[in-house]
Amino acid sequence: MKSTIQVHDKHFEVFIEQSVLEKRIAALASSINQDYTGKKPLFLAILNGSFMFAAELMKSITVSCEITFLRVSSYQATTSTGKVHQILGLSESIENRDIIIIEDIIDTGLTMIEIKKQLLAQNPSSLTIATLFQKPEALKQPIDIEYIGFEIENKFVLGYGLDYDGLGRNLADLYVLSE
Ligand code: 5GP
Ligand code: MG
Ligand code: MG
Repeated sequence: MKSTIQVHDKHFEVFIEQSVLEKRIAALASSINQDYTGKKPLFLAILNGSFMFAAELMKSITVSCEITFLRVSSYQATTSTGKVHQILGLSESIENRDIIIIEDIIDTGLTMIEIKKQLLAQNPSSLTIATLFQKPEALKQPIDIEYIGFEIENKFVLGYGLDYDGLGRNLADLYVLSE
């Protein structure tokens, strides 16, 4: 039987170990280093979830680069359009820059589509996405994602920066809800 941990009311088991995560992140960094040779990209890491991925990724980035951190607030709009996402914390100009968004996980993709739309309005030279996890089955609209760490099944995961109601971001392995 697999050992489980309890977070709030739920039980989770190890899904992807830290060593496997880190090996894959180093490979993503190599691809980015190749693709951005001679350029000076600006990484935009989306808080809170991407903090651990961003730190690990940046350790293997060898091209000259900058990194800054953003938050995306979502709130219910007063109209029927549903959720509105607002980008907070971007003080740098991204005009004519090569931008790489660092995200923890793309689920429905709706958050990323909105972030992308708002950033493209500020005329970067290029805009690509690096996400540690993606759930292909959950995607609601097609979206180009240049760097994907792991495609995972449509289950709730926790750890390595990702939380369950505030807890679990500190866990060094990725966990999945236990059945
Ligand atoms: P999307 O707009 O793509 O549906 O949602 C993206 C956000 O939902 C992610 O940035 C993340 O904060 C949260 N999310 C989606 N799936 C999971 C998951 O399996 N576990 C955790 N902890 N958060 C998730
Ligand atoms: Mg996120
Ligand atoms: Mg969360």
